[in-house]
Amino acid sequence: MRETRVEEKERILVVDDDLGFLQVAQAILKAKGYSVETAPSAEEALARVGERFYHVAVLDISLPDIQGTDLLSQLLEKSPDTLAIMLTGYSSVQNAVQSLNRGAFAYLEKPLDPERLLAIISRGLEKQRLVFENRRLVEELEQRNRETSILLSVSRAVSQSLDLEHIIASALEMVVPAVEAEAGLVHLRKNGSLNLYGYHGATAQLAEGMRVIHINGDILSAIYQRAEPVCLNVNEGPVPGLTPLAQAGYRAFAGVPLTAPGGSLGVMSVARRAARPFTAREIEVLTGIGRELSIAVRNAQLYEEASSARALRELDALRTEFLANVSHELRTPLAAIKGFASSLLQPDITFDEGTRREFLQIIDKEADRLHHMIKDLLLMSRLEAGALEVKKERRSLGEVVNSVKDRLSSLTVRHRFKVLIPRELPWVYVDEGRIGEVLTNLVENAVKFTPEGKLITMEARSNGGKEVTVIVSDEGIGIPREFQSKIFERFWQVKDASGGKKRGTGLGLSICRGIIEAHQGRIWLESEPGKGSCFFFSLPVCGKGGSRE
Ligand code: ADP
Repeated sequence: MRETRVEEKERILVVDDDLGFLQVAQAILKAKGYSVETAPSAEEALARVGERFYHVAVLDISLPDIQGTDLLSQLLEKSPDTLAIMLTGYSSVQNAVQSLNRGAFAYLEKPLDPERLLAIISRGLEKQRLVFENRRLVEELEQRNRETSILLSVSRAVSQSLDLEHIIASALEMVVPAVEAEAGLVHLRKNGSLNLYGYHGATAQLAEGMRVIHINGDILSAIYQRAEPVCLNVNEGPVPGLTPLAQAGYRAFAGVPLTAPGGSLGVMSVARRAARPFTAREIEVLTGIGRELSIAVRNAQLYEEASSARALRELDALRTEFLANVSHELRTPLAAIKGFASSLLQPDITFDEGTRREFLQIIDKEADRLHHMIKDLLLMSRLEAGALEVKKERRSLGEVVNSVKDRLSSLTVRHRFKVLIPRELPWVYVDEGRIGEVLTNLVENAVKFTPEGKLITMEARSNGGKEVTVIVSDEGIGIPREFQSKIFERFWQVKDASGGKKRGTGLGLSICRGIIEAHQGRIWLESEPGKGSCFFFSLPVCGKGGSRE
């Protein structure tokens, strides 16, 4: 858009082929403090008007190269805001009307009356100033409107969610184009540093370069600590902390603090590739959006804190229940072992061979159960401490299943048990013992929750050569839908319909998940109450060349 700002000295162009007149007019106008230029022909006048803005053009109506009224039209087409005053050497109403119709501001007759000319120019300039001022106000109003509607959209978008990442992503999506930037980043404080929580427009590489900023002497830390916006050019020498931006080709940077009543939360920053610095106005827009974002971020953080406090309370309750459960579960086999061993040791009772054997078998079975439970407890505590060892080797799933075959057969004697492991499956890289434990655990659960005589299946499939999936399915009681997402959490058990009495410790599946995740695999389930359950786990196959030909 053409620059229409009124400058201190208004510029006037006088166009006439009478050089004497030009001199006189120039002298009169200069004496009044105007900046005056002259042109002896229409061609030169139009050339000048193309180069700069003149507040007033005084045009002689009779020029050698063009009709004065045509010059007027062409001049106003090029510079519609210029005030055109027409001059003529002889009185002609027709010319006057024509000029005024084509947009001239006034019409003066020669010989020139300097006083009249000055009065008309002064009146015209006053009117022009008002037009300019009016236009500036309208533009400002429109700009304010745009900013308010952006602010409203951001406010609406961020207040509709309690998900931190979603809030930040939607704010950045709007803020970046609103300030004509190409990249936007939001860092929030976490554990003594500023961590990148969201970005828009930036490459993953740039995001990685600015992922964690240790609160130090850099720019983002300064914005965070002083809670004041900063706007600078990043290509005029290294700016602490912003080198990745400069390296990615950004030049202008602006950052605003995100603050809440409790203190600073982080920083929202934007960058553009053009060297054009962010204006005070753009910083104002950023600050406004930053304010909305801060409220939404704080709300989301409070919600997260409240949720994790609730989760902790739930975990605590589960732990207490677990302890009671575990004591009971440990005491039951111990009591059996103690009872049968004491009976056998009674000096005054002699048991026949069959009974002695039966007692010893019970003691053996209960000791196994105890051993199993203690192993689970130890495994769980290792998992919780992040100290579970997995010694991975290249294995076929067939080998892994074989290693626990006897145990699985003895577990499933009262059920129909089918194993479908194709020979041509790709190799996996696993700790055979640990994956054997997962298989045993899943089959044990299937046995526990499936009526005798029903089918339990263990199956394996290859998923597009990238993963091998193992499925343990049963025709048991199934798992109510509302509990399915909880089942892999530690201590978690489905309450028996009979009134809450539980079997087991609630550790088995969380151990399975820990082991599978230590293999970079996934574990999940599908279950239909009353019909049965399918537990799936997938393991990544060995790298290229690892598949069995
Ligand atoms: P637990 O040692 O108590 O069995 P798990 O973590 O192995 O602990 O299992 C947690 C709960 O998941 C069980 O208490 C049971 O309610 C449910 N569950 C697990 N496997 C099955 C299954 N195959 N069928 C039905 N419910 C199951």
